[in-house]
Amino acid sequence: MGYRVAVWDQDPDAPALRAADFPLAAPFTDQGALTAFSAAVSVATYEWENIPVTTVHRLAESVPVHPAPAILQILQNRLNQKTFLARHGIPVAPFQPLERPEDLERALSVGLPALVKTTTQGYDGKGQWRLLGPDDVCQVREALLRQQSQNPSEGQWIVEQCLAFAKELSVLVVRGAGGDVRSYPVVENVHEAGILRTTCAPAAIDQLVATQATALAERVVMALDGVGVFCVELFLMPEGTLYVNEVAPRPHNSGHYTIDACPVSQFAQLVRVLCGLPLGEVRLTSPAVMVNLLGDDIVKVTTEPVIQTFLSRSNARVHLYGKKSVRPGRKMGHVTFVADTPEAAWAAARTLLGLLGYDSTEETEQPSG
Ligand code: AMP
Repeated sequence: MGYRVAVWDQDPDAPALRAADFPLAAPFTDQGALTAFSAAVSVATYEWENIPVTTVHRLAESVPVHPAPAILQILQNRLNQKTFLARHGIPVAPFQPLERPEDLERALSVGLPALVKTTTQGYDGKGQWRLLGPDDVCQVREALLRQQSQNPSEGQWIVEQCLAFAKELSVLVVRGAGGDVRSYPVVENVHEAGILRTTCAPAAIDQLVATQATALAERVVMALDGVGVFCVELFLMPEGTLYVNEVAPRPHNSGHYTIDACPVSQFAQLVRVLCGLPLGEVRLTSPAVMVNLLGDDIVKVTTEPVIQTFLSRSNARVHLYGKKSVRPGRKMGHVTFVADTPEAAWAAARTLLGLLGYDSTEETEQPSG
C-alpha cells in the first residue's frame, strides 16, 4: 500500500521484524524504545492484547493509537471484559470473579460444568481449567494454588458456566475513525483443546442467525466506541441464542482467510482505518476453509512429498510464518482452501487434516447447517 512500517516486538526472532522498514526488538517496558518508536511513526496499532497498557497509553500521548488504549485496558482482563459486556446488556455466559482459590466452591454458583480462566495472559486455552462436577473442585483448587505460588502477580480468575453451544462463530467488525462500520461474513470455528483448528467461511447457519450475530458483534464494537478491526467470538446455542465469548481488538486468526477469499483482507482493512482511507469491501469472493498448522504440522507440510503434492493440486494458499522454534500447539502457519462450494473447500481441508495425521473424528466433521 506504499507505507513504511515500524514493528516493535520483544522477541528478536519475531517474523514481522524481518518485514519491517524500522524493526525494533526491545522489551515493551523499555523507555528508550518507546521514545524511538514514538518518534518513528505517524500512527500506531497493536496486535497482541498482552502488551502493557501503560506503554500503549504513553505511545498515545505522542501519536494516534487505534484501538484506543482505554479499550485495551477493558479487553486485556477477562473479568473487566465480561463485566463491561454484561453492563452493556450483551449476553455472556454467567460468570463470577474468583480472588482466592479457597473461594472456588462459592464461585461455582454460576453452575456446573464450569471453566476457570486466568483474568490476564491466557490465550489458546492456556490458563484454563474445566470442572465437570463437584469431584473436580479439589484438583482445580490445588492447581490454582500452585499457579498462585508460582505467579503471585497473576492473582485473579474468572469462573464461567460452560455453555453447551452448538457452534462457535466469529464476526470481524471494521470501524473507521469517522464511524463507518463494515462486518465480514459470519464464520464458523472449530477448536481443539482451546486452540483454533479450522475456520469455515461462510458459517453454515440460517440467514436470520447470521444477521443477529452481525448485529450483536457491531453492538459490542459500538459499546466500546472502537476504531480498528475487532473480532467478536460468539457461541450459538442449539435453540438459536447467541452469547459473546471474547472480543479481540485486532485482526484475528479466524479472519486469516480474508487474505485469500475477500477483495480486501482484515490486515489491509486495518491499514485503511489507521491511514484514514475509506474502508474496503468485506464481501466473500468464494467459500473458504482455513486450516491452522500447529506445532509439528509445519514440519510435515514442508517435508512430506504426499502433502506437498496434494497442496499443489488443490487450490491451497499456504502461509508459513517463519517462526523460529516449533512448540506443540504453536501456530506456525495456515492453509486456506478456496473453492466453488463450501463442501469442496471443506473436503480439501479434511484431506489435509487426514494427511497431517488427524483422523476424521467429530472434531473434523464438516460443520452442518
Ligand atoms: P477463550 O480463550 O476464552 O476464547 O476459550 C477458548 C475456547 O474454550 C473457546 O473457543 C471455547 O471452545 C472454549 N470455551 C471458553 N469459554 C467457554 C464457555 N463459557 N463455555 C463453553 N466453552 C468455552
